[in-house]
Amino acid sequence: MNYEPIIGLEVHAELLTRSKMFCGCEVVDSITAKPNRYICPVCTGQPGALPVLNRKAIELAVRVGLALGCEIHAESIFARKNYFYPDLPKGYQISQYDQPLATDGKLLIETEAGIKEIRIRRVHLEEDTGKLSHADAHSFIDYNRSGVPLLEIVTEPGLRSPDEAKAYASALRAILRYLDVNSGDMEKGVIRFEANVSVRKTGSDQLNPRTEIKNLNSFRALAQGIEYEIARQTEIYSRGGIVEQETLGFNEAAGKTYSQRGKEDAHDYRYFPEPDLPPLVLDADWIHSIRTQLPELPDAKTKRFISDFNLTPSDARFLTSDLSLAHYFERVAASSKSPAKTVHSWIAGEFMRNLNDSGASIGDVTLAPESFAQLIDMVTDKIIGGNAAKIVLTELLQNGGDPAQIVKEKGLAQVSDESFIQEAVTKVLNDNPSEVEKYLAGKETLLQWFVGQVARATKGKADPNVTRDALVKGLEERRK
Ligand code: ADP
Ligand code: MG
Ligand code: ZN
Repeated sequence: MNYEPIIGLEVHAELLTRSKMFCGCEVVDSITAKPNRYICPVCTGQPGALPVLNRKAIELAVRVGLALGCEIHAESIFARKNYFYPDLPKGYQISQYDQPLATDGKLLIETEAGIKEIRIRRVHLEEDTGKLSHADAHSFIDYNRSGVPLLEIVTEPGLRSPDEAKAYASALRAILRYLDVNSGDMEKGVIRFEANVSVRKTGSDQLNPRTEIKNLNSFRALAQGIEYEIARQTEIYSRGGIVEQETLGFNEAAGKTYSQRGKEDAHDYRYFPEPDLPPLVLDADWIHSIRTQLPELPDAKTKRFISDFNLTPSDARFLTSDLSLAHYFERVAASSKSPAKTVHSWIAGEFMRNLNDSGASIGDVTLAPESFAQLIDMVTDKIIGGNAAKIVLTELLQNGGDPAQIVKEKGLAQVSDESFIQEAVTKVLNDNPSEVEKYLAGKETLLQWFVGQVARATKGKADPNVTRDALVKGLEERRK
């Protein structure tokens, strides 16, 4: 019997406002700010304190709703979601329930089988909770985060694999960054994922009970948690058991989900309309003006990169997967006379490798795009070879400087001077008699190895084409 997974995602994203959702307290970095300094009677739930809506949060939420192709509702309602937890001082969270801000959107993701449309059920506004942490025998609570505007984006159960879930999560994160509504810093917890997972017999159209995995804070954890849950549920069904609806945590170190509590249903929260806030009524003109100010989004940018720069769809998508990366590429391409395809190769290859090696992100790069372009053009102009350029790029990324100056200082300029190359070729052939013999006996693939030896002997300065010709000539001369 075969089973297939059914997955729906809930994504919580803090909105990049200066102040909180219902009070004037400043929104601060939850890792570096001193705890419990940015709080007031409203966001700590003191009796009688009254919430006031943050207009900017609504604007950012509308921006997201529009970018996801949702219907934005002229009227939506805030509701109280009642539950008790130490990070929730009011004893309820102000959220939206049966009349959310936006519904019926979609997002395109790339899958092995091609582009797939994921339906989005709803986008609604709520407030974040405080932050609990535990050390030794103590628990600590920081209310700085309490009341920070939070957007919840919920899909239909349309995802079918951990990879699809990951593709959706990263495409959504990219859009939020493009829209400048969320920084996407997963380590800081400003964007968090919850996965709802069920499995069913392949071909069935019924939905089985789902489990919900809370607080997945990286793409990796998201995929691993779902993967584990699919295997666990499949195993239960295949031995005739039933899966209980449940809320789960995920232990990243063990790679396993664990039960937190029985899954609560909506009625457990005793939702009711928030009496301290009127219905949220949005003006059609205001929504329209937000729509006209939407930036170019990843899909549109990808299309433009394909047509303007003559890139393949997958090359273009790589560059547009991150707004900063796309910007950087455009700036390098604009100052370079080399083909955009070449610029892409440098960025997707050596540049990314350097970033990965040093653990830096594109935001940390201080290398001016103009200098990078200058370096790429030096290769195009055959002033330096590709290997030398790699050395210069690493130097530029680590210590800055001027590409031409570094080439000069390190003596990396390419030499096409025949006598210089001839000297190196002769030495390499003399030093490696057995390889010469093998080559002459028919193993012609060794030519590339000889080119490599000459490159090494000349510290990458020898023009590879001139080298190749000299090698072939030298080898032929040794045929007796
Ligand atoms: P709740 O607040 O109870 O978690 P939501 O409506 O916020 O409910 O989220 C439900 C999520 O679970 C949605 O993403 C939905 O697509 C998904 N979902 C619903 N039923 C199933 C199911 N049987 N299997 C997998 N996912 C499901
Ligand atoms: Mg849920
Ligand atoms: Zn406050």
